[in-house]
Amino acid sequence: MKKEISLLLLSWYQDNKRLLPWRDKKDPYFVWVSEIMLQQTRTAAVIPYYKRFIQNIPDISTLANVPLDELLKLWEGLGYYNRAKNLKKAAQMIMKDYCGIFPSTYEEILKLPGIGEYTASAIASICFNEATPVIDGNVLRIVSRLTEDERCVDEPATKKSIRHELEQIMPLMTGDFNEAFMELGEVICIPKGIPKCEICPLNSVCKAYVHHSWDKFPIKEDKKKKKELFNTVFLFHFQEKYAIRKRDEGHLLSSLWEFPNVEGELNLNAVKKWLKAQKISYFSVIEGITNKHVFTHQIWYMKAYYVELNRIIDSLCWATLGEIEGIYAIPSAFKPFLDDIKNKG
Ligand code: SF4
Repeated sequence: MKKEISLLLLSWYQDNKRLLPWRDKKDPYFVWVSEIMLQQTRTAAVIPYYKRFIQNIPDISTLANVPLDELLKLWEGLGYYNRAKNLKKAAQMIMKDYCGIFPSTYEEILKLPGIGEYTASAIASICFNEATPVIDGNVLRIVSRLTEDERCVDEPATKKSIRHELEQIMPLMTGDFNEAFMELGEVICIPKGIPKCEICPLNSVCKAYVHHSWDKFPIKEDKKKKKELFNTVFLFHFQEKYAIRKRDEGHLLSSLWEFPNVEGELNLNAVKKWLKAQKISYFSVIEGITNKHVFTHQIWYMKAYYVELNRIIDSLCWATLGEIEGIYAIPSAFKPFLDDIKNKG
């Protein structure tokens, strides 16, 4: 990557940076709170939340001792409440293990609950001048356009390599360098719509600008083919109840509830054979609806069968329709089957 990128970027940032309330003092507490809020919300929307939060919880010690209800109320509207809970946990850790002083190295900051590589890099570079490039969607988009990088930016190896390349060109003003990238990604080399290449400070070193190829970058996983999976779903019915089960931990949609299912799209004969092999005693089996559900990286094609049982299957959870709707969290991939059961009423 060309060294002049950092000079061009810093000089643009000096003239164009927005005045944001957490930028004044480069205080790690302020930067930390703002970065956690910015993970899920755009800058303009974060500002009022941030101001209210800092007014009520001005420092690490107050955060460590704030009642959880009060904290969550201040967080209300931002969503992802675990992030607020982790802020409190991290503040308690700082009080206990660091005598109330925010740790000053990337490695130590990374040990705090709820702080990942991105946030640790941002705090370490902005507040402690450590040469730790932030790697987020903005940075990956800009770098991949600058260099017309054909690698998939979702791959850890690509992120690692880009991080290494940025380390090589990082100037002494590490925080400004990172903030300039974030700012450029928010206002010039934007994620949606046409980037403002004509006023971009990096257009003289940008391959995508020269070749008008900005819309081809970054290469993302969702631009690749999604993995297609086929499932056969069983709507086991006995008396007034239907069978559901909890999805395993560590899998997509873990801890949510689903109708029992097996991999593969079985036809009616194959379903009957499968039921027999499982020693499931049934009265009748008929074809139900199909459903296609698109996830970020997968597409599920699901085919349902209604199975009227002679007796319940002990290993499954049994619930009435009302109970399933009122008590159990059913992911949207399985909702059409629930609706179909209701419609058949
Ligand atoms: S010139 Fe255009 S594509 Fe290249 S970094 Fe700037 S805004 Fe992005």
